[in-house]
Amino acid sequence: MNEPILHRPGGTGGSWANVAVLVYKQDDATSFRDVTRQVLFDDPLLDCQLRYFEVGPGGHSTLERHAHVHAVVVLRGSGQCLVGDTILDLAPHDLVHVPSMTWHQFRASLEEPLGFLCMVSAGRDKPQLPTADELARLRESSVVCEFIRA
Ligand code: MN
Repeated sequence: MNEPILHRPGGTGGSWANVAVLVYKQDDATSFRDVTRQVLFDDPLLDCQLRYFEVGPGGHSTLERHAHVHAVVVLRGSGQCLVGDTILDLAPHDLVHVPSMTWHQFRASLEEPLGFLCMVSAGRDKPQLPTADELARLRESSVVCEFIRA
């Protein structure tokens, strides 16, 4: 019989106790600011992982795109995200679907953190960062230009 695995909250901020708090990205320290990651669920029998990310006030995730999709559920705090060419305000219980090959970036508000669950496929492709040309194209929209951190 397998032992049940139960993760409970109670770590720092909105994090789970007894789950390692990881660096958001191991291989790239410059594309993001003040983001932690916890892997809450990772079972090969279900081909997905459920992670919890917490972005500190004023922080942001990487501006990226990839073939795999995200289901993001906001759990705490407030912020905004870019999905494609749209910027969305975020509050607890919001669910954001990030489609395949769509530029996206999450930002916490200046006043409070943004904590969210993110479900992804376990066998996923590596995120792509925008090239100089792609960044220039994104910046053609003044709203997007103002929002993105890259
Ligand atoms: Mn992503």
